[in-house]
Amino acid sequence: MPPMTQAPAKKRLYIKTYGCQMNVYDSERMADVLAPLGYGLTDTPDGADLVVLNTCHIREKATEKTYSELGRIKELKLAKAAAGGAMTIAVAGCVAQAEGEEIMRRQPAVDFVVGPQSYHQLPELIARTHRALGQRLAADFAAEEKFDALPPERAVTGVTAFLTVQEGCDKFCTFCVVPYTRGAEYSRPVEAILAEAEGLAAKGVRELTLLGQNVNAYAGERGLAGLARQLAKIPGIARIRYTTSHPRDMDDALIAAHGELDALMPFLHLPVQSGSDRVLKAMNRGHAADHYLRLVERIRAARPDMALSGDFIVGFPGETDREFEQTLELVRQVRYAQAFSFKYSARPGTPAAALPGQVSEPVKEERLARLQDLLNEHQSDFNLAQTGRTLPVLFERAGRRPGQVVGRSPYLQPVHIEASERLIGTITPVLITHATRGSLTGQIAQDAMAIA
Ligand code: SF4
Repeated sequence: MPPMTQAPAKKRLYIKTYGCQMNVYDSERMADVLAPLGYGLTDTPDGADLVVLNTCHIREKATEKTYSELGRIKELKLAKAAAGGAMTIAVAGCVAQAEGEEIMRRQPAVDFVVGPQSYHQLPELIARTHRALGQRLAADFAAEEKFDALPPERAVTGVTAFLTVQEGCDKFCTFCVVPYTRGAEYSRPVEAILAEAEGLAAKGVRELTLLGQNVNAYAGERGLAGLARQLAKIPGIARIRYTTSHPRDMDDALIAAHGELDALMPFLHLPVQSGSDRVLKAMNRGHAADHYLRLVERIRAARPDMALSGDFIVGFPGETDREFEQTLELVRQVRYAQAFSFKYSARPGTPAAALPGQVSEPVKEERLARLQDLLNEHQSDFNLAQTGRTLPVLFERAGRRPGQVVGRSPYLQPVHIEASERLIGTITPVLITHATRGSLTGQIAQDAMAIA
């Protein structure tokens, strides 16, 4: 992973600290958490981009002092707005904890309140505030390889193509920079997607992979399921895939479409990240392990041969041996056809980077090795189980060896056979004769000989 580049301070942060030494310490932590978003401390609220009042409940009249200070800062906010700028006001500390709603009600100039247990959520709260105002948080994070990396849209030369339908993310997993780098979830209009897909089909594309950071959050009319149904009607389009999905957005209509729409391939990349409910909560994934397992059950009830792919992070801050074992247990239950797994690495500016209990490198390495052994075993088993079966293969290109062509099974496995390049662009039944962890080998099934 590339090193994090920290943004130079471009935005002014004013923190006023009341009360005890603990609050002084917390204010420093807040400044640290906000530095990667480009905030640098200033000693006056006048003209600041972000003002945080870090309050204290202990002294008498502390609450009233907070309100009168907020009244003064509101005037500065109005003055800045009149000059074409913007100021965000946050109330932190014990008063925020005790009467957050009351503060928002009594002083509407306050954008958000944040209690002492939630300072690591500041980047998310600020990004959400900016979004609500229609602004983009101009954080200068380095691109995140694991989550930011949509496959690049490429010139169409073959029979498969990527088609971006959605961008951005509203989920704010605490380890991820995408919500800051890519902004809010946005769905392209259905008409634009259909027009592009028709153009691709006219160039010979037979398989579309719909792309989005949260592709199944696609919010066009009738969601991703409706879009897939419309795309499947385009002459020439025989296969539809999509990536990456979030378990929270896997709705009934999409699950049903997997059972009803032949073009929707039985392969689903559905990241879970961890099998531990505590870790999932700390990651802000918004679902529990059991919810994910029940979801997989429902998907497999709709499409019994569904092959699952996943993403995993081991060594998230505070992850215990027991919690890691729960991830292995979830993997044993799902039996992924393939998966991506990573060691947790702190991304400055993301909430998880500020969490206590960072796991040591040797422990992360050992856990990753154990997880990958298990995932590899399941991937091999899955591929081996295809031997003797006849699978429809969409042939994409010539193989490395002369006389060889390569395509993909419905489950996204590469399939190599010795045959004419005339097969490229066809979907041909192939008898699978051999399997490795990475690919399948076969021969044209008897009843398909006529095509070859
Ligand atoms: S769902 Fe989570 S991991 Fe995926 S892009 Fe959004 S914040 Fe990142």
